[in-house]
Amino acid sequence: MLIAGNWKMNLMPHEGMMLTHEICMGISDIPSHVDILICPPFTHLAQCSLIIENNESPLLIGAQNCHDSDEGAFTGEISASMLASMGIDYVILGHSERRFLFNESNDFIARKCLTAFKAGLTPIVCIGETLEQRNKGIVHPVIQEQVLSILHHEQIVSSISAHNIVFAYEPVWAIGTGLAASPEQAEDVHAFIRLQLEEKLGDHASMIDVIYGGSVKLENAKDYFLQPNIDGALIGGASLNAESFLAIAAQA
Ligand code: PEP
Repeated sequence: MLIAGNWKMNLMPHEGMMLTHEICMGISDIPSHVDILICPPFTHLAQCSLIIENNESPLLIGAQNCHDSDEGAFTGEISASMLASMGIDYVILGHSERRFLFNESNDFIARKCLTAFKAGLTPIVCIGETLEQRNKGIVHPVIQEQVLSILHHEQIVSSISAHNIVFAYEPVWAIGTGLAASPEQAEDVHAFIRLQLEEKLGDHASMIDVIYGGSVKLENAKDYFLQPNIDGALIGGASLNAESFLAIAAQA
């Protein structure tokens, strides 16, 4: 099980450090089959990493994005190898806010995924349909296109066993809206994603975490974790408070 917190562009550095410290303090109460990950803004990564290291904590740390090139004239961007050199474990790729606000395409996200693997990071690839697509009844084809845009790269497929990959199903209409998908709606899509993974990766598909994101909170978390194909959660708002984040993780 993976419980990941996406802080987005929230918290000043000292607040992020305090939150990291609080999570490190509470993590010992969480069952050992649950991996806990925080994804602070770039500017906080070094300080948060140091806190994790000083506490000898099993808390994992990830970034919220990286570029698809390893270096070069890309003002304002951060490469996967820069992140890896700081001891970062994971990188979120293709969050719907990046797809829609920054026009990121499936192809671009797949290229980032390759660069992340080359640097030794584990990508968390976010996929999910809009409300319009759900209302049109095209959830599965949309999800299939997003998953296959990653898995049709032979190099990605051959890197998965070494570096691992996580898929986060995040229906766009459920992110930050309080309108969470029902556990049955989520399970239906997770089972479909698992099928796509099985077709491409065979037995290895069962090793890949497929986590749900979209208005997860303490009140609804357990119902997701009871579903057979839901392996954790990607949490936005509720990850900004140690108590609520750890309480969700304790349900996993
Ligand atoms: C997210 O940012 O990925 C997310 C799921 O946000 P929230 O939990 O706030 O809906």
